[in-house]
Amino acid sequence: MTPAHSKTQRRTAIIGGGPGGLTLALILQEHGISSVIYERDLEDKSHERGGSLDIHEDSGQLALKEAGLYEAFQMAARAEGEDFRLMDKKGKIYIDEVADGNLSDGHGRPEIDRGVLCNLLLNKLDQSKIRYGYKLDKVVSLGDGKSELHFDNGNVEVADLVIGADGAFSRVRPLLTDIDVEYSGLTMLELNVIADHHPDLAAFNSRGKMFALEDHKGILGQLNGNGRIKVYASFKVERDWLDHIRNDNPQEMKAKLLELFHDWNESLQNYIRYAEDSILPRRIYMLPVGFRWERNPGITLIGDAAHVMSPFAGEGVNLAMLDALELALALVRNENTAQAIEEYEEKMFQYSSEKAAESNENLILCFSDHAAPKLAQLMQSYHDKYEQQA
Ligand SMILES: Cc1cc2nc3c(=O)[nH]c(=O)nc-3n(C[C@H](O)[C@H](O)[C@H](O)COP(=O)(O)OP(=O)(O)OC[C@H]3O[C@@H](n4cnc5c(N)ncnc54)[C@H](O)[C@@H]3O)c2cc1C
Repeated sequence: MTPAHSKTQRRTAIIGGGPGGLTLALILQEHGISSVIYERDLEDKSHERGGSLDIHEDSGQLALKEAGLYEAFQMAARAEGEDFRLMDKKGKIYIDEVADGNLSDGHGRPEIDRGVLCNLLLNKLDQSKIRYGYKLDKVVSLGDGKSELHFDNGNVEVADLVIGADGAFSRVRPLLTDIDVEYSGLTMLELNVIADHHPDLAAFNSRGKMFALEDHKGILGQLNGNGRIKVYASFKVERDWLDHIRNDNPQEMKAKLLELFHDWNESLQNYIRYAEDSILPRRIYMLPVGFRWERNPGITLIGDAAHVMSPFAGEGVNLAMLDALELALALVRNENTAQAIEEYEEKMFQYSSEKAAESNENLILCFSDHAAPKLAQLMQSYHDKYEQQA
């Protein structure tokens, strides 16, 4: 390999400045390796994207340790966010777990708001290494693993290594495969309730997550660090169902949701009734379980670009951060880029397909008949297994 390609001089382009891309750039930076993130948005929008995330000990937390941010994370994380209530549509409770609130033992899955997590990463990153307003349009292969990146602002850059960290609808993925994301059959409407304005619902929800599941539907509530209860009204519908409500105003959307959940407990309906006017409809997409691609010596993927799955294993952001850790360390170990990609991908394909299978099984279970007691049983079996291993 020529000196121009040595690991410190390799031109590394990371497409996308979400949690995966930011973690990767920061761990590389900690090891003296430069990279550039190209992000389509004009500024960081992480705080606007989704709610609180639980960060796992064996993935997200490992990446934060390597990025030198573990203590800062512990200061910002909320152990009490691990509280979990599970009920059916009548409000019959199957699980009511109260977290011990202890972050110092390093166990558990403390919660952190997405915006706070991304700010921690961004604040430590050399600001000259992130370019906002760079939406990747297309990539042209120059041979030898090199690529030419074309952005919709007219700029063109050349890279020795391109990493697609650009989420579910990645523009980098089509360079590696013809396989695309599929609609999972689940649609979610994301709503927000200001907890302080509705103390009855705040008490009902408790300090963490509340899942109510029945009739192939769900109302999921999650108290965030910013005082909002993020609500996901979720149900199995045809893909085009959303197209029929997209132009409705928020009051009309809420009326349709209340109709859909008309025979649910009053407190559960209040998650919809009390919601503010910002409603974000989402279809949940996934890549096939066990998805992999033909190796390319100068291009790879991390995070949702590599293995988007439904949120029902709570693994998405954790896997994105674990990928960032594994790829960064492989790039640190290897002068040879192709070798680094191979080491990373072999490991990643293995763990991500296990989590994708788990996420898919959980999705099926959560929207099947008698979902609440079935999920309670599954969680009890995880708990028993963990106790035996401890
Ligand atoms: C409703 C919902 C709830 C979820 N809850 C959880 C949870 O509780 N726990 C959990 O672990 N995960 C959860 N997830 C999943 C989690 O949000 C994702 O797995 C995680 O954000 C993936 O990170 P990423 O960096 O790979 O991609 P993203 O967060 O999607 O970031 C991709 C970045 O790339 C940028 N980008 C996209 N296209 C381009 C382009 N062409 N050019 C340049 N930049 C581009 C985007 O603007 C964005 O900044 C949830 C997901 C959803 C939809």
